[in-house]
Amino acid sequence: MDGGRGASDERGVDGAHRVSDAPATRLECAACGAAPDARAPWRCPNAGRDDLDHIVARRLDAARATFPCAGAVNPFVRFRTLLHSYHAARAGGMSDADFVALVEELDRAVAEVDSRGFVATPFARSGALGESLGFASGGGVWVKDETGNVSGSHKARHLFGIALVLEVMERTGLASRAEHDRRGLAIASCGNAALAAAVVARAARRPLEVFIPPDADPKVVKRLQSLDAHIAVCPRAPGEKGDPCYHAFRRALEAGALPFCCQGSDNGLTIEGGETLAWEIAAALADDGLTLDRLFVQVGGGALASACAQGLREAVSLGALAKLPQLHAVQTFGAFPRAARATPPTRRPPSACARPTPRTSCARSCATRRPTAPSSCGRGRSRRGASPTASWMTRPTTGTRW
Ligand SMILES: [Zn+2]
Repeated sequence: MDGGRGASDERGVDGAHRVSDAPATRLECAACGAAPDARAPWRCPNAGRDDLDHIVARRLDAARATFPCAGAVNPFVRFRTLLHSYHAARAGGMSDADFVALVEELDRAVAEVDSRGFVATPFARSGALGESLGFASGGGVWVKDETGNVSGSHKARHLFGIALVLEVMERTGLASRAEHDRRGLAIASCGNAALAAAVVARAARRPLEVFIPPDADPKVVKRLQSLDAHIAVCPRAPGEKGDPCYHAFRRALEAGALPFCCQGSDNGLTIEGGETLAWEIAAALADDGLTLDRLFVQVGGGALASACAQGLREAVSLGALAKLPQLHAVQTFGAFPRAARATPPTRRPPSACARPTPRTSCARSCATRRPTAPSSCGRGRSRRGASPTASWMTRPTTGTRW
């Protein structure tokens, strides 16, 4: 416990990140409610025993957590008290400063590999886009730009979160580094997820096997090789159904490899790192007195949309956001596996949305709720990159009531 100590530096170490004796997070299977083994927290112990989707979910107890209104530019430092890896570290004897040092150490290593570490990515109103869509000057479209993030996409957020879990497991005695290295990391991807996994794994000095198809982009393959990832090319066997890369990935997991991927179905802990994106949004909105009407998120497997939904839902429960926006998961007509699974695209566009229940109660602004917190909430955001990866329609509010 570090509560009671008043000192705090610019990262909020100690003073602004007090935790109660009981962890604010816990893990449970979304299907059966079972708690995973602490030595394999990414997997439900009942997975594979029936037809249910046994996906590990991280639950946050809002009564035991506080939304960080200000703090470091590194989202894994600023929002650490919302991370399960943080609470696992504290329960295992690590101090707040120990965890911050761990994040910063790994982030420096990432920056050495990829020439950039984790900082809050740009989130700003796109005047031209809003005008072209016919929005009035008071509303518009806001864009969260992840193209300047580590490895060039949001994927690295997910994988950095998993890397922190592995580091904490080793530093708290739940697993040894030698065991993890012997088992190795695995991912099936030939795109942004693979690139992000290779960057984070190289930074963490962990062995990674990447399962790719024979026609993977040569530029991606070259980059993976430069990052010392072990590449396994997976041609389709005669009569084989499904994705040969994913099948090979699953076989690797069954042989002991650690799932280092962006699919929540294989590693539920991958969602949490992605939530930092939503928490950055929530913090920026609170800072500017804005709320969102609708949220559009590009989806492949759905991990980013899940992370955004969960992160914003938690921001509402912690009083940082007044209400949840309506979520639209967007896929292209050329690749819409989730919409195609749900319903034919000719009958319902692939932008079918989940509709979170809006909260009607007022959420006070960060400054009003916590007058002692610094007022720099959301500042320090990078301006790197230019192309949007997701967009939000917003409207200005008084910042007080809905
Ligand atoms: Zn389960």
